[in-house]
Amino acid sequence: MILTLTMNPSLDISYPLKHLVINNVNRIDDAKKTAGGKGLNVARVIQMAQKPVIATGLLGGHIGQYIQDELAKDSIAHQFLSINQESRHCIAILHDSAQTEILESGPTINQQDQQAFKQHFANLIAQADVVTMSGSLPKGIAANYYAQLIDIANKQHKKVLLDCSGQALKEALQHHEKPYLIKPNHEELGLLVNKTIDATNVEQISDILLHAPELQAIPLIIVSLGQYGALARYQQQIWRVSIPRINVINPVGSGDATLAGLAIALSEQSTLPTLLKRAMVFGMLNALEAKTGAINLAHYDALFKQIEVNLYPSPHHVSG
Ligand code: ATP
Repeated sequence: MILTLTMNPSLDISYPLKHLVINNVNRIDDAKKTAGGKGLNVARVIQMAQKPVIATGLLGGHIGQYIQDELAKDSIAHQFLSINQESRHCIAILHDSAQTEILESGPTINQQDQQAFKQHFANLIAQADVVTMSGSLPKGIAANYYAQLIDIANKQHKKVLLDCSGQALKEALQHHEKPYLIKPNHEELGLLVNKTIDATNVEQISDILLHAPELQAIPLIIVSLGQYGALARYQQQIWRVSIPRINVINPVGSGDATLAGLAIALSEQSTLPTLLKRAMVFGMLNALEAKTGAINLAHYDALFKQIEVNLYPSPHHVSG
């Protein structure tokens, strides 16, 4: 079973409008309300791939109940810790070929709930093979909270896949217990090492993966590069993953789908090239759908065959 963690879930509301009229009334006929948050996207994709998953994290109030009802409709098993505050709304207004987002920061989590969740998490991971941790932490929780949860998971010998950015990622990498895998995109990697990274500069990314001190103790790193595929580092070797061109419908959530593919591959002990291919296929399958964090497995085999995984530089490459 894969456990997916979402510490600050939201009820995502999308308002499609032809034009957004400022300082006046905008009426919407077809508002959509869905369970949101990066970890819930991961859980939805794993469920759509028909693999066992449990979604966990913190939920509260009427909005929390609505989110649980939405998860139940999608047959996503979930065991959230209930908190005594309302979970948040996030609003996306789709207008004039643009997207304007209004994101509530959500509840401030007190010490008691933080402690209670650690116990809840420790109980749940006993049943899991791997754990995904995605997204930002809610207010009130220190940036080293993921690091504390990684301690608990590592004690039970469960692999943690961490997909977060900024201070939470920095703290997790500085901590003595490490996640098994991180999946930054090129911008998140750049923030981590204080460099501007070009997604097409394989040499630069490879150099960072092999030499940045904060990355060396992480067994597996996948740098996802959108349409350019990915670059991975495992045991001092760099792997370049090349993907075909596709007709993208909506790439939002492709990183979450990629994490879902990685979690499934790790839980099924896939070989490294297969793991990398599965991860890329899941990201692409999400980009082919209009809905964020959704895949259609019918296209899986055709895409899988078109992905190439090669050592970088190629073993036949002669430098100088
Ligand atoms: P998000 O934050 O939107 O979830 P991300 O920045 O974490 O995404 P990306 O690197 O954009 O992640 O995408 C993850 C994977 O999804 C890519 O490695 C690739 O396999 C697939 N993908 C994303 N965008 C595209 C695209 N435009 N064309 C083809 N594949 C894509």
